[in-house]
Amino acid sequence: MKGSTTGGDAADGPRGELNPITFRRRLMRWYRDNARALPWRDTSDPYGIWVSEIMLQQTRVAAVIEYYTEFMRRFPTLVSLALAPEADVLAAWSGLGYYRRARMLHKAAQFIMTERRGQLPSSSLELRTLPGIGEYTAAAIASIAFGESVAVVDGNVERVILRLTGRANDATAAARRFVREQAQALVPHAPVTLKPYSQSGEGSPPSGNPAGDHNQAMMELGATVCLPHAPRCSECPVHSLCCTRGEHPTPTRTPQRSQPAACLLDLRKRGPATEVLLECRPGDAAVMPAMYELPKLPQEAVEGLEPALRLRHAITNTNYYVQVYSPRRLVRSGSGSHLSVDKPSTVSAHALRSVLPTETQNLHWTRTTRLASLPLTGLTRKILQRLKVMKNTRITLAE
Ligand code: SF4
Repeated sequence: MKGSTTGGDAADGPRGELNPITFRRRLMRWYRDNARALPWRDTSDPYGIWVSEIMLQQTRVAAVIEYYTEFMRRFPTLVSLALAPEADVLAAWSGLGYYRRARMLHKAAQFIMTERRGQLPSSSLELRTLPGIGEYTAAAIASIAFGESVAVVDGNVERVILRLTGRANDATAAARRFVREQAQALVPHAPVTLKPYSQSGEGSPPSGNPAGDHNQAMMELGATVCLPHAPRCSECPVHSLCCTRGEHPTPTRTPQRSQPAACLLDLRKRGPATEVLLECRPGDAAVMPAMYELPKLPQEAVEGLEPALRLRHAITNTNYYVQVYSPRRLVRSGSGSHLSVDKPSTVSAHALRSVLPTETQNLHWTRTTRLASLPLTGLTRKILQRLKVMKNTRITLAE
C-alpha cells in the first residue's frame, strides 16, 4: 500500500509503503482492548448481522442499539420477518427513519424465503442482488457473517484511509477508487474459523474471522478515534504509520437548514378509551408512504396561538422546529401516569380542524393503546411519547 501525500500537510508524516501486516497487528491489538460491546457483535447469525447492517445505514450506533434489540425480539428469525405484515415491520422501525430500509429488508426476507429456500446469500456479489443491499452493506455482511476477504468502505473507513495516506478528499471517482483499493489491500486473507453462535449476551472480538474483525476494527477506529472534526491522534494505534496525524484538511460541514412546522394533536374520549386523530400518508408518497402522522397545520393559521409543545426534530440537514397545537387541555391523571402538557388550550377543536389543509385526507381516530403497533413517523412518535400519549390508558381530558 503506497502512501501518496498531498504535500505540505503531510510533510512530517511517514512516506512510502504502509506495511499491511504491521498496520493490521496494531489495529487489531487496539480493537481487542477497545471495541464497544454492541448487541450485533455477539452473534454470528447472518440474519442478525444483516438486520444490524441495514439499521446502521446512515444512522448512529447509539440510536440503533435500542431498535435492534427490540426488532430482533419481535422478528427473531428470517422466517418471522418474511411472514410479518409490512405494517408491523414499519411499526418496529418507527422512529429510526429512512423507512425504505425497513420495506426493502422485509421484501428481501420474503424473496429469500420464496426464491432461495430461506438461505441468505453468502458472497458479496450475490448479496447485492437482494433489495436494499448495495456495495457497502454487501461487503459488511459477507465479511462479518461469512468471512469473505472484502473491504467495507463506509464514511469512517474512507476518512481513515485518506488521512492515513494523505490523499486529498476531492470527491472524485479516482479518489473513491483509490480509497477502495487501499482499503482492500489492508484486508487479511487468512483462513476463517467462525466462532460458534452464542445467545449468552457475552463475547467480544476477535471472533476468529480475520476479515470481518478487520473491517469492524477499521470502522471502529473511524467512529471513535479518527473522528471527523477532532481526531484523537494521541490515542491512535496507527499514529506512527499515519501521513497526516490530524493535519488533513477536514471538509466543511453542510450547513443545517431550519424550518418551522406545526401540527395538530386532537384527542377525544370514546367510553374508557382515548383516541387520537392521525392522518395516513398516501401509499404513493415519495417520502414515508402509508405511514401515520399527526395532521399538519399551515403556519399562517396558527399565528399567535400558544402551542402545547415545542420541539426540534432533525432530519438529515434540516432542523424542524415543530409546534404542536391541541384544542384540549391535557391534565394529570393519577400518580405516575400523567400528561406533561399544562398550558390551557386557547383554541377550539373545530377552529383547529377547520384550518387543516384541503389536501388533508385519510384521517383516522385511533385508540392510543394501538399506537405502539402502528407505523408512525419518527416525529409523530416523538411528540406522542413526549406528551405521554403512547400506551397511556389513563388519560383525562379537560375542555
Ligand atoms: S486518528 Fe490521527 S493519527 Fe490516527 S489515522 Fe486518524 S489522523 Fe491519522
